[in-house]
Amino acid sequence: MLPQRIQPAALRLWCRCLNLMFPPVCPFCDAQVAQNGRLCEVCRSALPKQPDHYCLRCGQRAYGGPDGCLRCLNKAHAPNRFVVGYLYQSPLREQIHRFKYRDTPELSKQLGALGWTRMASQLRSIPLDIVVPLPLHNTKLIQRRFNQSALLAGCWAKNLKIPMVTNGLQRFKMTQSQASLTARQRRDNVRGAFRADSKQVSQRRILLVDDVMTTGATALAAVQALKRAGACSVTIACLALAIPDRADDAVQGGKHHAKH
Ligand SMILES: [Zn+2]
Ligand SMILES: [Zn+2]
Repeated sequence: MLPQRIQPAALRLWCRCLNLMFPPVCPFCDAQVAQNGRLCEVCRSALPKQPDHYCLRCGQRAYGGPDGCLRCLNKAHAPNRFVVGYLYQSPLREQIHRFKYRDTPELSKQLGALGWTRMASQLRSIPLDIVVPLPLHNTKLIQRRFNQSALLAGCWAKNLKIPMVTNGLQRFKMTQSQASLTARQRRDNVRGAFRADSKQVSQRRILLVDDVMTTGATALAAVQALKRAGACSVTIACLALAIPDRADDAVQGGKHHAKH
């Protein structure tokens, strides 16, 4: 009995000592917080909203009922559902950037938890068998050393208590960065970029995880590959949805503005 009584007290004392030496800080801004892994009040209250007015199937900014937008209705391999946590805005945008480009995969826990807070009830209501992260091309994976979507996917798979299948989908084509491309160029850029392993995805209800979605061209190409390989359904879950600015809309609308 005695050791069992002493142990928690000793542990508490040890934790208190650790807290004195290394006070817990907000993972976003380094302000002191009461508990490790918690966001400070300032960062928490500044988190962006959950986006509204998007297609419930593909996430595009297009209106449509539960059956999806016109683009989804006309497409054989459209996604079945789209779930998103946040608008891709400050201060989350800077933290996702830090997570991806400044080699801070440990931020994935916080970002995964933040995504889960917003999406849990929706994700739990959808029948799902496996979680598949949107893959990086091997060259990029070696450069970055981790796949940001796989870290988020691992976190959500654990919460959903279903397996994550990291090699269910592979990226064969080394695509150029999507950022500077028009919507049409983005679609061409990712055409045929993915191949799915039918042994792992066929007859499965899949949750495809992406960190940030902009035009959705990459995620939609991945959905197509999964469905061609026999997936029953594909739900896209993404942490943040970027709403294109007006300049992008103009390009997508076919009005080509010459930039000097
Ligand atoms: Zn903070
Ligand atoms: Zn749609």
